[in-house]
Amino acid sequence: MRKFILDINQSNGELIEKIKCSSPGEVASGVKLARKAFKVWSKTPLKKRIALFKNIARDLHKERKEIGDLITKEMGKVNRSAVGECEGTSYAIEENIKLAEKAAETEIFKEDNLVTELHRAPLGVVAVITPWNFPVGMPESLLSPAILMGNTVVFKPSENTPLTGKAIYEIYNRYLPKGVINLLQGAEEVGEQVINSDIDMVAFVGSQAVGKKIMEACSKNLNRLVLELGGKDPMIILKDADLKKVVPYAVHGSLRNSGQVCVSVERIYIEDKLAPAFEKLVLEEVKKYRVGDGFDDVDMGPMVSEAQRNHVIEQIEEAKRKGAKILLGGEKIDRDGFFIEPTVITNLSDKHDIMVTETFGPVICIQKVKNAEEAIEKANNSVFGLGATVWSKNFSKGKKVAEQIESGMIGVNQGIGGVSGTPWVGVKQSGFGYIGSVDGMRQFTAIKKISYRKK
Ligand code: NAD
Repeated sequence: MRKFILDINQSNGELIEKIKCSSPGEVASGVKLARKAFKVWSKTPLKKRIALFKNIARDLHKERKEIGDLITKEMGKVNRSAVGECEGTSYAIEENIKLAEKAAETEIFKEDNLVTELHRAPLGVVAVITPWNFPVGMPESLLSPAILMGNTVVFKPSENTPLTGKAIYEIYNRYLPKGVINLLQGAEEVGEQVINSDIDMVAFVGSQAVGKKIMEACSKNLNRLVLELGGKDPMIILKDADLKKVVPYAVHGSLRNSGQVCVSVERIYIEDKLAPAFEKLVLEEVKKYRVGDGFDDVDMGPMVSEAQRNHVIEQIEEAKRKGAKILLGGEKIDRDGFFIEPTVITNLSDKHDIMVTETFGPVICIQKVKNAEEAIEKANNSVFGLGATVWSKNFSKGKKVAEQIESGMIGVNQGIGGVSGTPWVGVKQSGFGYIGSVDGMRQFTAIKKISYRKK
């Protein structure tokens, strides 16, 4: 079992810090502390919980630069995006406060003189286990719903972003009573110990493979689960789409955060007729991309690790061997750190792994299709179902296509983001449960039904 994790600066490969992994004893005592704190926290009025979270949101906003710098160092994100992530997350806390108020309301049903009240009771100790790609945004999307709804938490951030995890823990812990949030550090082994300990629920964001292991482990005690897993998001471009909108979305959507976004554009299906003009404009756009250390004036940083870079390069190599055409990039960049050239690939088909398995890298993958029906069939031929987008100047045609796509979140002539307060959600093997929304907050509660007759 690993005693330490090595926190590496992905832009130059240098060691930032050697972090001690939590021991089995520390995992057990973290859970014990959370359980003890639950007794009081679960009875603390929502108003008081909310007041504390307002301080947390404010401090995160205030400290966005320092924490943004940590993100850039630990996982390579372009610094202005890293700072923006902290800023956006502080607004997300404010949003979750509003949702918690609605979610906590008791619903009352009446039938003659019979009354039933549905109360929302907290569950207990929630294990929050999160990835590195949005190392502030992802933890927060589970931490504040769990804690605002009256639960206590053991939080294990990714082994790739332990200092960012510690920084957000410290902000929460500054205001929350002792034991309401408990930090555990480490990789897979520590995650396994956490989910096998005396907890009531696991809230997990991460890969499909780990999600499956967690679900299996949770079956032992029938622990509740929220799983937000990977994706292979299709972008469907119909022949009448507006290239002025489509090209920037395809490029930014594929390369943002070096492609390490669960809802990045992973597969493009474009009708034959529009493909040549689209490819030409995409190449022009990608050639402008500046790659380098996230602290410099660049558009794209490194990959999070050597292993992640190797995975992307292997997919590109396999595509090449099987007849795909690399229009641009496709290689590691010869410098310190784990960089890959922004890559554009065409001549792709279903036989290429890069069109099937999550890539999580800066690659624009283009497959031509005959018509909308073929695009729908290809888009749905996936175990994943997180996001998708459909593009057409004919809105009602685009919307009809969108309605046939098997994904949790679909944008028509725009990205997948929608009105605030609506859920972030996947289907199929992209997981289950919601981030955000009233339903999302209520996942962290049990319904308690109290019925009585009024005289
Ligand atoms: P990962 O699954 O490898 O790791 C996620 C977390 O789980 C880490 O903290 C890790 O230490 C822990 N872990 C690993 N093995 C474990 C085990 N056996 N038991 C308990 N915990 C364990 O994922 P990652 O590489 O950190 O993140 C990338 C993945 O996250 C991608 O697949 C991406 O699509 C997904 N993701 C999904 C969403 C979403 O909203 N659906 C958002 C962001 C990222």
